[in-house]
Amino acid sequence: MAQKKIVVIGAGLVGLATAYRMQEAMPDAKVIVIEKEDGSVRHQSSHNSGVIHSGVYYQPGSLKAQNCIAGYHYLTEFCQQHGVDFRITGKLIVAVNEEEERQLPVLQQRAAENDLQGVRMLNAREIAEKEPAIQARSGLWIPQTGIVDFVQLADKLCELLRVKGAELYFHQEVEDIVVTKTSLYIQTRYQSFEADMVVNCAGLYSDKIALMAGVHLGHRIIPFRGEYFILRKKAAQKINGLVYPVPHSGLPFLGVHLTRRINGEVEAGPNAILSLKREGYQRGAFSWKDTWDTLSYAGFWKMVSGFKKIGFSEWKKTMSKTVFTKAVQKMMPSVTEDDLTPAMSGVRAQAIRKDGSLVDDFLLLRSPGMIHVCNAPSPAATSCLSIGQTIAQEVEKAINSRTAL
Ligand SMILES: Cc1cc2nc3c(=O)[nH]c(=O)nc-3n(C[C@H](O)[C@H](O)[C@H](O)COP(=O)(O)OP(=O)(O)OC[C@H]3O[C@@H](n4cnc5c(N)ncnc54)[C@H](O)[C@@H]3O)c2cc1C
Repeated sequence: MAQKKIVVIGAGLVGLATAYRMQEAMPDAKVIVIEKEDGSVRHQSSHNSGVIHSGVYYQPGSLKAQNCIAGYHYLTEFCQQHGVDFRITGKLIVAVNEEEERQLPVLQQRAAENDLQGVRMLNAREIAEKEPAIQARSGLWIPQTGIVDFVQLADKLCELLRVKGAELYFHQEVEDIVVTKTSLYIQTRYQSFEADMVVNCAGLYSDKIALMAGVHLGHRIIPFRGEYFILRKKAAQKINGLVYPVPHSGLPFLGVHLTRRINGEVEAGPNAILSLKREGYQRGAFSWKDTWDTLSYAGFWKMVSGFKKIGFSEWKKTMSKTVFTKAVQKMMPSVTEDDLTPAMSGVRAQAIRKDGSLVDDFLLLRSPGMIHVCNAPSPAATSCLSIGQTIAQEVEKAINSRTAL
């Protein structure tokens, strides 16, 4: 029997972990990863908070809830086994007013339904014991949270993929997909790759790849930039771990939080504002094509009318360091504008439906011979080995039952 060829588009963490899981499940198949950049994880997977989540926020039973806690366990096992830097630190979610305080039991209940262990309420005194610089009325302690070096994780996945015979192609931007009765052809400017099955893990461009394959999409990817500041040493010394606000209900973003990263730096962020470029990391980054894509989409305008107030307050955080600082001061009153130095930013790929609603859960779509990972925002980096495993099982089944196409 001819060797089966499986192509993964995108060398972000979801693509790499999917390729890794497929190679584990089907050692006789040829796994090929095609990436447009000069290396792996150049986008979302390296421009993020570096947090290993465990799933306190997600709707029980949702793909996010299932894959987050499973992903947490797979990821920590993998890091331990392969020497990737990580640490389980726990995290605090703090309530600074009465309204937020009312949300804490709801989150605690959710954590229990999602099988998280050891989650407990803390009063103001207990919070001060863990984080003396944080002022809050009460909070939730989530022991199953950590920090990790996602770039090291990606490097290790690439290394293991190559050792086991996978082929990784960089500088190869997928420009077209041709589906015939017997095969799929993935076309880049330089090469055509024949495949039995293809998995689209193109992140910010996952909708474009799905359109190339002829999928009728009910959503479009809208890019949201998130900006970070680093705390100068004096302020950073006052923060021990991870401190999050109670998230705004109805938004998939977690709010500006404080994260002591694996390199020891403490970051504040990210906010969430519309990006006028899908891979635009600088303030003011602009692409006509991407902007037109967003502005010509009715779903975008419907979303805007629903989130006007929040959108404006996030925009203010970008335009004014004072406003950003105030968001941090809500939890850490002693922080000043001078304590914050601008740092990296990331761009989230968020799928928005035609009716303007945000796709909250992970979204996997199918077309002949293909699986499209169409919405994989946070916590998809944490969940990558679990998402990858689910996809690998489906691909294996399709290949074994000869229904790949
Ligand atoms: C600001 C921010 C903070 C976050 N914090 C966390 C966190 O702390 N913990 C967590 O678990 N998650 C976090 N996330 C989410 C997490 O980073 C993403 O969910 C995850 O990285 C998605 O991985 P991916 O592989 O789907 O996408 P990406 O990492 O974006 O990878 C997609 C890849 O596809 C490639 N590609 C695109 N188009 C083509 C094409 N035509 N041809 C070939 N290749 C193509 C891209 O170049 C890219 O390498 C955060 C995200 C952001 C933006």
